[in-house]
Amino acid sequence: MSLGKMMDKALTTTSIIEHAGRFHTNTPVISVETDGTISRTGWGEVESNARKLNAALVRLGVKTGERCATIAWNNRRHVEIYFGVAGAGMVCHTINPRLFPEQLIYIMNHAEDKVLFFDKTFAPAIGKLREHLKTIEHYVYMGAADDEVAAAVDGVLFMDDLIAAETDDATWPEIDERMPSSLCYTSGTTGNPKGVEYTHRSTVLHTLGANQADGLGLSAKDVVMPVVPMFHVNAWGVPYATAAVGSSLVLPGPGLDGESLVKLIDGEKVTMALGVPTIWLGLMNALEKTGSKALSLQRTLIGGSAAPSYMIREFDEKYGVELIHGWGMTETSPLGSINQLLAKHTDLPHDEKLKLRESQGRPPYGVDLRLVSDEGEILPHDGKAAGNLQISGPWVVDTYFKADGSALTDDGWFDTGDVAMIDEDGYLFITDRSKDIIKSGGEWISTVELEDIAISHPGVSNAAAIAARHEKWDERPVVLAIKAEGADPSEADILAHYEGKIAHWQIPDKVIFVDSLPIGGTGKILKNKLRDEYGDVLMTEDA
Ligand code: ADP
Repeated sequence: MSLGKMMDKALTTTSIIEHAGRFHTNTPVISVETDGTISRTGWGEVESNARKLNAALVRLGVKTGERCATIAWNNRRHVEIYFGVAGAGMVCHTINPRLFPEQLIYIMNHAEDKVLFFDKTFAPAIGKLREHLKTIEHYVYMGAADDEVAAAVDGVLFMDDLIAAETDDATWPEIDERMPSSLCYTSGTTGNPKGVEYTHRSTVLHTLGANQADGLGLSAKDVVMPVVPMFHVNAWGVPYATAAVGSSLVLPGPGLDGESLVKLIDGEKVTMALGVPTIWLGLMNALEKTGSKALSLQRTLIGGSAAPSYMIREFDEKYGVELIHGWGMTETSPLGSINQLLAKHTDLPHDEKLKLRESQGRPPYGVDLRLVSDEGEILPHDGKAAGNLQISGPWVVDTYFKADGSALTDDGWFDTGDVAMIDEDGYLFITDRSKDIIKSGGEWISTVELEDIAISHPGVSNAAAIAARHEKWDERPVVLAIKAEGADPSEADILAHYEGKIAHWQIPDKVIFVDSLPIGGTGKILKNKLRDEYGDVLMTEDA
C-alpha cells in the first residue's frame, strides 16, 4: 500500500514559457527593434522560437552548463534567448553594454562565454573587442542576415537563420531544477564585478514570490513594460513573471528617453511599467511636455535607488498612477521588499498614505530580513534602530560564480552592504549604502534623505549627496545639484529648503550646482566618482 505521492515536477524556466506558449498563445509581445520598427508577436511564437533556438544551440555543440552571453536591448529576441538558452541547459549571461571595454573583456573571459548574442548597435564595438575574447566560439547577431553586421563581425551567425533551420518538432529537454539558468554580474563600482548565477529553481520561486498580490501583482489583464534593462538583474524578473501569468509584454528597445516611453505607454496602453528613478525623471518631464496624462498607466514599480518622495506624490496626484517602491539587488534576484499598504491603513488621510509609500516596503514570503549592529548584535524592528541589513531566502546568493567560499555569514545570512531600519509592521527604510553614508562627528547622515529633500525643491531636477572630508567632523555633507530647466535657485535657497525638515546639524555644508551627474550602467548615480572629484571641497576652504 502506498502512502500517496504528489507529482515531482521540476521548477524550471521552461515550465514557465511552456505555460505561456500553451495558454497565452496570442497574448501580444510587442517589441521595439533596434531600427525603431515595432514587431508584434505573441507568447506562442516566443515559445516556439525559444524552443528552436535551444535545438540550434545543441546543434552548434554548446554544452550543458556553458554560458551564452547577450549584449542587447529589451526586445523580443532577447526574451527568446532567456528561455531558449536556459531551456537547453545552458546559462544566459546578460551583459551591461555600458561597461568600459576592459570590464566587458574581463566579464566575458571570466564567465568563459561560448556564444555571444548581440544587437546591431553593438556590432562595431564587438568587432573591436573580439581579439581579446578568449572563449567565444560563436557570434550570433539577433536578427535576419545583414551585410553590415557580416562586415563588422567576421563569421557571424544570424539568429533568425538558426531558428528557421529548426522544425516545429524541436522539443524541450528535461532539466534538473537546481541547474543554473542565468548569470548576472554586479556592477563592480569597487573592484572586479562579481557573478551571481541563478538556478531554474531560484528563478521560478522568485517569479512566484515576486508576483504575489502584494508584490508585483501582475495579471493577464496587464500590459507590462520593463524599462529596467534585461541586463540589470534579468529586468527584475519581469520576462519570467509576465510569461507566468500571461501579461502582455512591451519591450522598449533602445529608446529609453521620456518621449519614446510616453509614446509607447499611450500607444500600447501600458498598465504597469518598471524602472529606476533616473528614467522616471525623464518620463515625468516628457509627460509634462507632451501633455499626456498616461491614462492607461495604473502602476509603476521603482527600485534600484530610492524613489524620491515628490515623485510618489506627483504620479499619484497628477496622473493617478500608484508608485510602488521596491528594494533589491543583483544578489537577491532582485526582489527583497516591496511597498503595499495594510488593511489598517485603509482609512488613513491621503498624505499619511503617501508618506508610508516612501518606505522600501515589506519582504514577500520567501525573504527574511534582519538588522545587525557593527558588533554583531541583532537589532529590534522598532522603527528606530538602524543597522546592517541582512537577508536570506531561496533566491538569495550563497556563493559568487567561481568564488572559493560562501559569501554568507557564519549563520547563513547575506550581508547586503546597506544600512537600514525596519518598523514594527515590517516596513523597511534604507538609510544608505554603508559606503555612501556620511559619518559626521560619529553620527550618521543619510544621503538618501538629503537627496530627497534637494529634489523636492522645484528648482532642482536631480541631486546627489556625498561625504566630503572635514577637518573637525571627519565628514560633512555636500550636495551636487542640477538646476531644473528654466529655474535658477541659489545655494542659499536650497539650504533654506532643508530648514525644519531635518536636524540642523544634518543640513549640508555646501550645495554645488553642476550640469550633469555621472550615471552608471544601470542608471544609478556614481557616488564614488563624485567623492573623487568633490571629496576635498571642504578641505580647501575655511572649514
Ligand atoms: P549595483 O547598483 O551595484 O549595480 P544592484 O543593482 O544590485 O547593483 O544594486 C543594489 C543596491 O541598490 C542595493 O544594495 C541598494 O543600495 C540600492 N537600492 C536598490 N533599491 C533601492 C531602493 N528602493 N532604495 C534605496 N536603495 C536601493
